[in-house]
Amino acid sequence: RVARTLAEDTSPGRTADGVPVALLANIGTAADAARAGAGSAVEGVGLFRTEVLFLDRATAPTREEQAEVYAEVLRSFAGRKVVVRTLDAGADKPLAFATQPDEENPALGVRGYRLVRTVPELLDTQLAALADAQAATGEHPWVMAPMVSTPVEARDFAAAARRHGLTTVGVMVEVPAAALRAEAILAEVDFVSMGTNDLAQYVMATDRLRGELSDLLDRWQPAVLDLVAATARAGAAAGKPAGVCGESAADPVMAVVLAGLGVTSLSMSAGAVPLVRYALAQHTAAQAADVALAALAASSAPEAYAAACRALRPEV
Ligand code: PEP
Ligand code: MG
Repeated sequence: RVARTLAEDTSPGRTADGVPVALLANIGTAADAARAGAGSAVEGVGLFRTEVLFLDRATAPTREEQAEVYAEVLRSFAGRKVVVRTLDAGADKPLAFATQPDEENPALGVRGYRLVRTVPELLDTQLAALADAQAATGEHPWVMAPMVSTPVEARDFAAAARRHGLTTVGVMVEVPAAALRAEAILAEVDFVSMGTNDLAQYVMATDRLRGELSDLLDRWQPAVLDLVAATARAGAAAGKPAGVCGESAADPVMAVVLAGLGVTSLSMSAGAVPLVRYALAQHTAAQAADVALAALAASSAPEAYAAACRALRPEV
């Protein structure tokens, strides 16, 4: 019964004292968007992984094909926020027509936004298609680039997106360099979204696909939390949104920590939203900040998790 009650709660994400933390969905297809957008349980889309459109094809989808899918997603979330991520191919998501099969270290190679160096027309077509979808629907998508490492990349991406008439432009923070220089990155863009899956991989120098190293890749590693904290601080200082769209956001205990660090939105698979909403609502912003401090003070991932659990309100 409790699960059903939680699932029926469609109030926006808030701490107990009313500080908003937007609860958003991660999607990969127009069908995902239709499902997640049907109710009002999520406030929008925090990560639309557009690479799904490009996978398992011999050639890239055309501008028209892409525009149609983007418009469908925007219509499913009319009036709500939709963050579209530009193509994140390479590494664990190879593409026949874009990525280089012979890279020795693909996770460190030409992936994500870096594809603009080798196949610039892919990004240009995608931004044009997104602008077409914007014109066709009257909705204003947010757009962000994956795997950005430097403020110069952020500036170049923002300029390209704005040239196409897209007005709210951001980048993912999933490379340690971007987290360390979040203030300079935020000077170039309107928002950032932390990809904690890749951030953990690169901070811990641990392949995210190697199960036997999962203790190092743990989302509770204090070094990962440090970089999330630094990025959230930079967002607050700039007065710009700094969200999380990696798997961390779907963990209700971690969600309280993230809210306590000042993260402004949490994007996750739609099914994880009810428990996260509940956990947030049991804590004031000050209590969430205490939970975050407890986790940051720990010296290992299991200790950080245990410390956060001990600091939670007893209702959770
Ligand atoms: C991430 O890296 O945390 C992220 C959200 O992107 P992806 O999992 O698609 O690499
Ligand atoms: Mg990523």
